[in-house]
Amino acid sequence: MSDPSTHESSEVREIRINPVIPSESVLVATARSMRPKKAEELAPRDTRKHVETCPFCRGNEHKTPPVILSWPPEGDWQIRMVENLYPVLGDDREQAGFNFGLQQTIDGYGRHEVIIDHHEHGIAVQEMAESHLAILFGIYQTRMRQLFESDERLKYVLVFKNFGPAAGASIPHTHSQVIAMPVVPENVDAEVRNSAAHYAKHHHCIFCALIDEALTFEATIYDRASGAVRRKINVGQYVVERGEKFIAIKPFASRYEWEVHILPLAHQADFLDVRGEDLADLARVMKRTMARLDAVIGGAQYNFFLHSVPHDAQRDAHAPSYHWHLEICPRTSIPTGFELGSGLFVNTVNPEQAAERLRAVEL
Ligand SMILES: [Zn+2]
Ligand SMILES: [Zn+2]
Ligand SMILES: [Zn+2]
Repeated sequence: MSDPSTHESSEVREIRINPVIPSESVLVATARSMRPKKAEELAPRDTRKHVETCPFCRGNEHKTPPVILSWPPEGDWQIRMVENLYPVLGDDREQAGFNFGLQQTIDGYGRHEVIIDHHEHGIAVQEMAESHLAILFGIYQTRMRQLFESDERLKYVLVFKNFGPAAGASIPHTHSQVIAMPVVPENVDAEVRNSAAHYAKHHHCIFCALIDEALTFEATIYDRASGAVRRKINVGQYVVERGEKFIAIKPFASRYEWEVHILPLAHQADFLDVRGEDLADLARVMKRTMARLDAVIGGAQYNFFLHSVPHDAQRDAHAPSYHWHLEICPRTSIPTGFELGSGLFVNTVNPEQAAERLRAVEL
């Protein structure tokens, strides 16, 4: 069935290749009748300010595992970091690696910690003060640095946040997680390898090039055979939010309908190199981006994670070609058998239009 109110020209059905990881392709299919999946009805998230029985709420400090740091150090805490009760990676115990045929394992050595992002139980990122978010980012940096310095076997520290039941948050109190591991996660490794290959060939950082493209001038791409307009690119088409030092971009090959990436405008490989005075701008771009997502989606539930250059033997070699970023992936649908079976992500919202809608939100 076709809907007479939709214009054929605004519908997109194409496979977009992720410029950084070409094996991660996305099928953008926006025509209503074509959509291979439905938007999911999200379970509502917990928005209460204080919950008597919550181990992460103030007054229940004795219910959490040992504290690692709290801020401010004196008086009522605003942010608190504790060990994880159920770590996915254990720590000091030596375990023999197990290898049998194609079954390879590596030591589950590592650290898994929890940052209670705010003392208010159900507060969303866009509701937090910018100054609070800047301190939170500073705590991410401090802990990453401490973990790298504590043990040279640790190659990567993944900082991430699951927000809302749709994003797999098992504890409703707002929190982030820090996992330090002895291996570089496969998707970070793919970004690092592919961006190094791009650098070797073109002598520039592919992420910097993507930022330039997002900020590009107008261009029209014509179909070679028919001469029809295939795509118009307008000024700042992929820009969602722009700060002084950071930018939020809607990726051309977004895997998720409302996926947004935040990057430093100037080239920088390591999140640890962000200067303290620039964290306020990062906090501002983050808060405004989350407010836009929340307004458009109507209650954003998401995963976000930091991708920064791994601290392995290649760290310095990869510094010119890798560019750290924060990926925000709001959850609005459940992956289908088609996606799991094909490895092809399906995005039902045209990324250019998604960016336009996000930009249009009045803040
Ligand atoms: Zn709580
Ligand atoms: Zn760069
Ligand atoms: Zn990434």
